[in-house]
Amino acid sequence: MSLPFALNPVLQQLPVYQPGRPIAEVARELGLAERRIIKLASNENPLGPSPAALAAVKRACRQIHLYPDGNAFYLKQKLASNLQIAPANLILGNGSNDIIEFLGHALMGPGDDVIVSEFCFAIYPIVARLFGANVITVPAKNHGHDLPAMGNAITARTKAVFVANPNNPTGTLAPSEEVRRLVDSTPAHVVLVMDEAYIEFLEEPLNLVPLVHSTPNLILMRTFSKIHGLAGLRLGYGIGHPEFIAALEKIRQPFNINSLAQAAGLAALDDLEHIRKTRENNSLGRKFLEESFAQMGLPFVPSFGNFVLVQVGQGQLVFEEMQKQGVITRPMGGYQLPEWIRISIGAPRENQRAVKTLKRALKAIAKNKLK
Ligand code: PMP
Repeated sequence: MSLPFALNPVLQQLPVYQPGRPIAEVARELGLAERRIIKLASNENPLGPSPAALAAVKRACRQIHLYPDGNAFYLKQKLASNLQIAPANLILGNGSNDIIEFLGHALMGPGDDVIVSEFCFAIYPIVARLFGANVITVPAKNHGHDLPAMGNAITARTKAVFVANPNNPTGTLAPSEEVRRLVDSTPAHVVLVMDEAYIEFLEEPLNLVPLVHSTPNLILMRTFSKIHGLAGLRLGYGIGHPEFIAALEKIRQPFNINSLAQAAGLAALDDLEHIRKTRENNSLGRKFLEESFAQMGLPFVPSFGNFVLVQVGQGQLVFEEMQKQGVITRPMGGYQLPEWIRISIGAPRENQRAVKTLKRALKAIAKNKLK
């Protein structure tokens, strides 16, 4: 049946975002026990949530009959003091995906151009197209963003430029000098969105936060889904000029940050031990995965995030074969990287199992081909 009313025409061409597959779904489909499956598909925190955040959620549960604080007063206060800015520089989102949508409402319409890089996070082009804007995709350089080329692609029609640094799904990091130059050279009529979802995994991150006071067309995005292990609660934030933030506040739904997320976020920011352990596990796991891929002769993109992009041949087949053996990774066909899969860095045993399973999958595929 076709619907008896007209949908927004942009929906006809719009793809549905394909997230990493949940453990329960794969278990149902393949008849496997959930406890035998590991998920290394969505760049989550393999150590779980901070124990302090978990305790805070349990306490906050007693109050879930009440609406949350619509302004998330305490969470904003703490974030602001950590970042040495004012609460007025912060907007909170139901995940940083929510902030991307605010930017769509605030900036994008038919006739506008939005600049992204080849192999960029899939939500940027989806949101731009949802709002009727044209997506200008600048070719990547060695799988990473070519920031000078992205700057050169700006025209009078450009409304926003999206840069994820480190980038997902490639794990690449743009040189600090290039980032600074792009911030300085972006014309005032263009908003530069620096997506810093993985910044906490960097050893020496470039701190752009102080620039938001003098650069009203710069907005930074961060998330509690990665280093803090709170992906299931949906909490992210934007850092920007107070006037820009005030405009975005008009778009935000009043209770987009639920009370459990507020409590968990507040506690997670103080759990420095969990952050330290997460970072340590990540660098060890990344080294292990990258060394294993090198030994196997598989090309990979050296990663600055909590995942590694590796070239395995037939990505979809390898993904399916590994999934049959209870290891969920992310196929990259949707990112125009059909020969690659992305493996999130897990706990040590998960990483070992991923490598073993990858070897077995490649063998099984090679054997099938010979038949
Ligand atoms: N930006 C990037 C670059 C990401 O990889 C992700 C998560 N995969 C997000 C934003 C969104 O994260 P969340 O909505 O969970 O905060």
